[in-house]
Amino acid sequence: NPLQGAQFILAAHRINQLPSDQGAEVAFAGRSNAGKSSALNALAGHKGLARTSKTPGRTQQMVAFSLPPLKGDEGQAPLDIRLIDLPGYGYAKVPEPLREHWKQEIDAYLNHRRSLRGVVLIVDIRHPLKEFDRMMLDFCFHTHLPCHVLLTKADKLSRNQAQQALAAMRKQFASEGLQATAQVFSSQAGTGVDEARNMVVQLLRT
Ligand code: GDP
Repeated sequence: NPLQGAQFILAAHRINQLPSDQGAEVAFAGRSNAGKSSALNALAGHKGLARTSKTPGRTQQMVAFSLPPLKGDEGQAPLDIRLIDLPGYGYAKVPEPLREHWKQEIDAYLNHRRSLRGVVLIVDIRHPLKEFDRMMLDFCFHTHLPCHVLLTKADKLSRNQAQQALAAMRKQFASEGLQATAQVFSSQAGTGVDEARNMVVQLLRT
C-alpha cells in the first residue's frame, strides 16, 4: 500500500497555517457524514488516522498528513507529499459565519495552493449530488484541477445498484461537460480501495 505510513502533521484553521506549499498533495473533501474520515483511514490502512464520528460536523479544520516517498522515489531528493483532509461541510448545526469562513478558505485553497494536484470528493452513493458537491466540482472545473469522486458506502447497495449509480454519475458529468472521474467505494467492505489508492498516487505524481 503506497499510502501506508501516513502521519498527522497538523490541523489548521486557515490555509496559511498549512505546511509550506511545496511538493505535492491531494485534498479530500465531502459533506459531513459522507464517510470521508473512513475513506482516508481505509486508503492509508490505518483505522485511527482521521477521526471518524457519529457526530457529523465535529471536525471543522483542515488536517495535513505526510506520506512516505512513493515506490521508486526512495533514493531521490525527497519530494514532500501529503494528503489534506478538508473540513466536512453541510452540517446544519454549523453556524452560518463559520460556514462562510470555510467556504472562503476552501475556495482560496483550491485557487492558490500550488502543490495541490487534485481533489478526491467523497459522496454517499445513495444520495444525489448536493450543493457542496456541486461547488467542489465547479471549483475544480474552473481551476482545471482533477476531481475524482468516491461513491462510498457502496455496501449499502447491491452490486448492480452500485454500478447503476456509477453509470448515472458518469453520465451526469458528461452531460454537464465536467472532466471529473468517479468510482464505487466502500470503506467498510474494502470495495474500490486499490483503485482509489492508484488514483491518489497518480495525482501525486503529476
Ligand atoms: P465523515 O464525517 O465524512 O468523516 O464521515 P465518517 O467517516 O465519520 O463516517 C460517517 C458515518 O458513516 C459513520 O457512522 C461511519 O461508520 C459510516 N460509514 C463511513 N463509511 C462507510 C462505508 O463504506 N459503509 C458503511 N456502511 N458505513 C460507512
